[in-house]
Amino acid sequence: MSTALPVTPSEKTLTAAEVKRLKYQAETDLLVAAFHREQLRWGNVDWVVTLFLIGVHVGALAAFLPSMFSWSGLAICLTLHWVTCSIGICLGYHRYLAHKSMKLKAPAEFVVTMCGCLAGEGSPLTWAATHRLHHQKSDQEGDPHSPIKDTRWWAHLLWLFPKRSTESSRVLIRRYVPELADRPVMQFFEKTFALWLWGGGLALLGLGTAVGGWQLGLSWLVWGMCVRMVAAYHSTWFVNSATHLWGYRNYDTRDHSKNLWWVAILAYGEGWHNNHHAHPALAPAGHKWWEFDITWWSIRLLRAVGLAYDVKDRLPEGRRADDEEDMAEIAKPDTMVTAA
Ligand SMILES: [Zn+2]
Ligand SMILES: [Zn+2]
Repeated sequence: MSTALPVTPSEKTLTAAEVKRLKYQAETDLLVAAFHREQLRWGNVDWVVTLFLIGVHVGALAAFLPSMFSWSGLAICLTLHWVTCSIGICLGYHRYLAHKSMKLKAPAEFVVTMCGCLAGEGSPLTWAATHRLHHQKSDQEGDPHSPIKDTRWWAHLLWLFPKRSTESSRVLIRRYVPELADRPVMQFFEKTFALWLWGGGLALLGLGTAVGGWQLGLSWLVWGMCVRMVAAYHSTWFVNSATHLWGYRNYDTRDHSKNLWWVAILAYGEGWHNNHHAHPALAPAGHKWWEFDITWWSIRLLRAVGLAYDVKDRLPEGRRADDEEDMAEIAKPDTMVTAA
């Protein structure tokens, strides 16, 4: 007697391409569900992320204690804010990893990715994959953080709090950053990103204590880690929330992205978000002479010293604002499967 499962006529006739398409659709549904606002409920909170973010914010409040202030702590705070937010996140995670706006020599790639890890915004692969998903589904169903589809607070930070399954994380990375996922340097940072962050905090505490006693050590920890990270977090998060709500548009994109000057200042050029959604792969985010983009100056410097090359710095003539080629690049995984 046969033990094989009965096969329905429809299953019998499925081609390999149809099976692939069904699997792809199931994975798409998994991702849409993983980033849906309904995931935020008491039984499904990612307490590691949530308690860490609460802890960093509480630590930043300690900066209001006069005894925690030191000029050296403030200088470390400002320097590390630029190093981690502009070099690490804007240049490294965003324009280099997520958008391939340039190529970097190996030492530069290592350093900027490490700076991204020190920002405390998670692993490079998850960050870049989630960001490509944002571009592909921007302000539509499936966008991880849309203030239009969902709420302002969801887009700003609440989307970070739900627990997401290992399977959804695996699908996210395999689908959206396939060319990065198998690279040894990215696997290294995928395993060690949290260690860089904790190591940085301990180093500040230890060095400050060695230089000027435990009170200076605590001051360096509070200003160099907590204040710096809270400021960088909200700078990044305003790109997800405010620049899809307020500002002006240079380009008629299919989403609600806007250019917002004060986010451009806080987030080192990333506030020219409508420009960026119109031309995601372009390295400079400011497209008018007065749209100042400080991260672009760092890219130019890296190019001048030979550490960055093949920088995408020009809009090809005759390309319309809502750039099909750039969007196709962002949406590549979908394009590939649709074509299969
Ligand atoms: Zn956006
Ligand atoms: Zn982007």
